[in-house]
Amino acid sequence: MSQYSNALQQLHNAIQGLDISRSVIALLEHPERVLTVSVPVEMDDGSTKVFTGFRSQHSNVRGPYKGGIRFHENVSEEEVKALSFWMTIKNAVINVPFGGGKGGIIVNPKELSERELERLTRMFVRRIASVIGPETDIPAPDVNTDGKIMGWIRDEYEKITGTDAPGVVTGKSVEDGGSLGRAEATGRGGFFVLERLREEYDLDSENTTVAIQGFGNVGYHFARLAHEAGYKVVAVSDSRGGISSPDGSFLNLEDVLVAKKVRGSVADYEQVGIKRVTNEELLELDVDVLVPAALENSITAENAKNVKARYVLELANGPVSPEACVMLHNQGTTVIPDVLANSGGVAVSYFEWKQNMDNERWKEKLVNDKLKDLMDDTFDSVLSIARNRKVTWRIAAYQLAIERISEAMK
Ligand code: GLU
Repeated sequence: MSQYSNALQQLHNAIQGLDISRSVIALLEHPERVLTVSVPVEMDDGSTKVFTGFRSQHSNVRGPYKGGIRFHENVSEEEVKALSFWMTIKNAVINVPFGGGKGGIIVNPKELSERELERLTRMFVRRIASVIGPETDIPAPDVNTDGKIMGWIRDEYEKITGTDAPGVVTGKSVEDGGSLGRAEATGRGGFFVLERLREEYDLDSENTTVAIQGFGNVGYHFARLAHEAGYKVVAVSDSRGGISSPDGSFLNLEDVLVAKKVRGSVADYEQVGIKRVTNEELLELDVDVLVPAALENSITAENAKNVKARYVLELANGPVSPEACVMLHNQGTTVIPDVLANSGGVAVSYFEWKQNMDNERWKEKLVNDKLKDLMDDTFDSVLSIARNRKVTWRIAAYQLAIERISEAMK
């Protein structure tokens, strides 16, 4: 099955028993617009390479399309369609006035120089400029994109339109109109969800072990906050492999980060008692909380039966396939879905956009306090649906979203 039909399966699972009109579902099944563009880039050696990029605008029923842009070799039209659909659901779950969108370029950005990356980004903006804007479609960072790249997007868009338009993109660096707290927001939001989970299920942080797949912006900040709050972060990994502390002692995350920055991977971190693990092994460790924070489909029907964690907190988008989700549920593992667990990023994107539109600058404490309120409210709403209707957390989150979207469509 394609990635998009997998994503739609989650929609169909969630609507069973709900009073949602067929036309609402039919509209949600199709992205409103999917743009494919060629992105020619002059390389440093003088040659020209043509990359392929996409922007999928899934729904703007609840507000402008909103969602990130990723730079990755595995980007495809199907993938961005699925990711844009999840953004429509996510933005409705947290109740921010946005629809869903997503974009990407098929590229391994690690193979480009910084100048090539800048030219690639700017050319992509020229290709999609006519369909984005502060009140139409607002990109943001995603896999392998960051504040610097968002700054290029803003600048290029402003040159093309001759306007000052900080709100055309979020996740910018703070000097460039970004919000304080945005870089950490996805990890921080996930951490707030973990804290609520601990309260709900009576866990005790000192005895709760956590393994995290993915040590990018999201995985790192989540790991740091969980560690600071006393959770036992016992394993981390990135695309090149990972490390675990078999006796359950804490990993020294600052040193792990240095190893990643200096030597390229967390797997290059060396310390007595630390064991190397592959990404596959990390998912099967005997921990309390497993946090997939990398890419889609890390947990599928193949390996779900080997997952021992009691809780899976989805900080990536779509890390657990629909089949695997059912298997985990039957094994007694609670899966906290991406559309709730990783929504802190777009939540603070909304705060950034609002500051840009209102010409304001909020203090970091205000941003973090508002994020906590939003995550707590969302957690409570999803939990109450899951309990009252006796459905999984994912179905509860989807039902909350679909009811809101359906109201808006009417
Ligand atoms: N890429 C992030 C996500 O998947 C953030 C999107 C945004 O801030 O618009 O949620």
